[in-house]
This record gives sequence, C-alpha cells and structure tokens, in this order.
Amino acid sequence: MRRPLIAGNWKMNLDRASASALARSLKNSMATAGAERDMLLAPPYPYLAAVAEILEGTRIILAAQDVSPFDSGAYTGQVSTGMLLDLGCTATLVGHSERRAISGDTDEIVHDKVVKALDAGLHTVLCVGEVESERERGEAESVVRRQLSVALDGVRADQASLKLSVAYEPVWAIGTGKTATSADAQEMHHEIREFLESSFGGDVSARVRILYGGSVKPSNAGELLAAEDIDGVLVGGASLDAESFSAIYSA
Ligand code: PEP
Repeated sequence: MRRPLIAGNWKMNLDRASASALARSLKNSMATAGAERDMLLAPPYPYLAAVAEILEGTRIILAAQDVSPFDSGAYTGQVSTGMLLDLGCTATLVGHSERRAISGDTDEIVHDKVVKALDAGLHTVLCVGEVESERERGEAESVVRRQLSVALDGVRADQASLKLSVAYEPVWAIGTGKTATSADAQEMHHEIREFLESSFGGDVSARVRILYGGSVKPSNAGELLAAEDIDGVLVGGASLDAESFSAIYSA
C-alpha cells in the first residue's frame, strides 16, 4: 500500500559538475530499475536548477533541503516555496536535525515551514528524532511526539494524506556510522504511526510514509526496509555515491 521512498540528502556537498554527474548516473540506474519504489533527491540550493534539468521527464522527485516559512520580502538568504516550485522542485525536507542544531530551527519554526510547504502543495518530509542524551534518559518517544505535535498542529488530514512523509532520524545515528537496530527503529516508527492515527485517523496514518535515517548504507538498508512500519530511508553520506545509493534503492 505504501510505496517505499528512497531519499538522498546531499547536504552542503558536491560542486555543479559532480552534482550533475550524480543526478545523471541515478537517472540512468532508475531507468533500468523497477517502478515499485520512489526516489527523491535533495541537492544544495544552487544546483537545483541543473539537477531539475537532468531529471526532467523522470519519476525522480526533486526536493529542497529546507524552505522559508515566509512568502517573499526582506528575508536575506531564504528561499520561498514559490521559488522552489518555479525551479521544478516538488518536495522539501523540513526540520532536519542539522537545521535544528546549527541553524536555530525550533519546533515552532519547523511548524511554520511545514504549514507553508504543505499549503504550497510541496511534498514535505518532516524530520524528527532525539539526541543521544534524550534516548539515554528514556525520553526518545516523548521528544519525537512533541516534535510531531508542534510541527503538525493545524495540518489538515487531506494534506497529511497526500503530501506528508515523516523521517525518523535519531540524531546520534546521523553521520556517525551508528544505526538504530531495525527493531528499535520499528518501535519508534510504530509510535509515529500511532501518533498520526490519533491526529488524522487510520486511513491517513496508513498512507503516510515513515522513513528511517541515520547511517543507512547498502549493507543495512534491506533489513531496515523489511520492518513493517519502515516505508523508506533518508540517506546522507551514502547518497553521494551513485553506486551506494543505487544499491540502497534496490535493497
Ligand atoms: C541525514 O543527514 O539525513 C542522514 C541520515 O545522514 P547519514 O546517512 O550520513 O547518517
């Protein structure tokens, strides 16, 4: 019922030539892969246009790594939903832990971005996850529930059903080589599904894809994706290598 979504977050990596080469190579591997999975790529802002051109006519979803909560005006350095749509972007990540930790995105700012992105019709990948000390204190579930309830406050069921994905990314697993076990990840994904059910009802919660992120690589992707509530993966480091990302896509 839920088509797996394999998403690559290129973060602030690559240059124009290597971003284009990576997009071309993934486009070629998608052309020969089955159509039963979706692929999403989130290049850095300056390369969105070049990658959009390469991906035109393919099923690969082009995403931004972040979006402004404002429409236009004196917001130096920000990029609006309208600008993303104008570039051919149909999706965006929101609330990535690096934005929360480094760029000051609070739960409330994440909420404003989620609402703006969904209102614009962008497929919105809302990232949530606890830091290591919160997990050690047994607070992982309450932290994730708080992030979800603030971010999704006021979101309509039809928006969630059609345009929302959630990425559970335990912060201690991002870029560290440590991965949650598939059993631990499944447990949190089940909690997230229950949260979505209580907020939007069973039909919607059954449709929203919940991705896992945190040191996903070809060797662990298959086991993670086999878990009942893991509907895809959000990949950082391993998405920068066409061979690794293609292997995760087919895992
Ligand atoms: C990420 O940044 O979303 C991520 C999961 O990174 P990595 O795969 O490198 O841990």
